[in-house]
Amino acid sequence: MSERYRVEPGQKVKLSKWDPAETGEFDSKGKARKAMQNNLKRLAKLEYLLYAESKRSVLIVLQAMDAGGKDGTIRHVMGPLNPQSCRVTSFKAPSAEELSRDFLWRIHKAVPAKGEIGIFNRSHYEDVLIVRVKKLVEKAVWSKRYRQINDFERLLSENGVHILKFFLHISKDEQLKRLQSRLDDPDKNWKITPADAEERQYWDDYVAAYEDALTQCSTSYAPWHIIPADAKWYRNLAISEILVEAFEGFGMQFPKPAADVASIKLK
Ligand code: ATP
Ligand code: MG
Repeated sequence: MSERYRVEPGQKVKLSKWDPAETGEFDSKGKARKAMQNNLKRLAKLEYLLYAESKRSVLIVLQAMDAGGKDGTIRHVMGPLNPQSCRVTSFKAPSAEELSRDFLWRIHKAVPAKGEIGIFNRSHYEDVLIVRVKKLVEKAVWSKRYRQINDFERLLSENGVHILKFFLHISKDEQLKRLQSRLDDPDKNWKITPADAEERQYWDDYVAAYEDALTQCSTSYAPWHIIPADAKWYRNLAISEILVEAFEGFGMQFPKPAADVASIKLK
């Protein structure tokens, strides 16, 4: 699964070539349910092992257009994880204090410690997405950030942070449907903001900005995956599967006990 959706280093991304509505080998949610449950079970065990071992950490980066499904992914895929070793950080518009530092300052502080899983709901990529599209800084500033991001992610990776990045790819029509339902359903009204309607007008600019970020910042040590996300169930399944594959590839083992277990007598 990972190979299918991974952007290879140096591969030029054209999002129109990636189908947001495909569902792989599965034609319905029902058929995928078993695979999903199995993945979640395996993931919980692997997380336990990651925590026990405490040798490395996992950083999961989620990016998407508005209504792309970041929150739903966190609820369904990461919801079953143990809150003891898993933390979500949501990155909003930077505060005055954050703006007075380099753009990675607030990001670095949120990187997971060894044994932990960190989930970024939006991330440092906003600094080459909204910041570029809305011209919040000059081109001379944002254009250097692709290299700076790669350097930063390499530093993390060389220090035991496994980075997995997911772009939840929805179509413009699917976004319209989801935003419309936020307007129509009183229980979803709280989710919609004028910014959602405003940002939608910049769809093409966002596509161009995403294509550059996905092309320039997919590396062997911090790969991007482009996940078909029009079908929420398939999005969840694909991400859970890629996480299991990655965790299993770490070759983790429970640490040796600190003491001679046989010599410990309980009374
Ligand atoms: P939802 O998808 O549920 O609406 P959200 O992640 O969009 O959640 P909001 O509070 O609606 O949360 O929006 C956060 C806003 O902060 C986004 O528009 C995002 O682009 C913006 N943002 C994040 N990082 C930066 C940044 N570095 N510079 C400027 N804006 C940023
Ligand atoms: Mg929003």
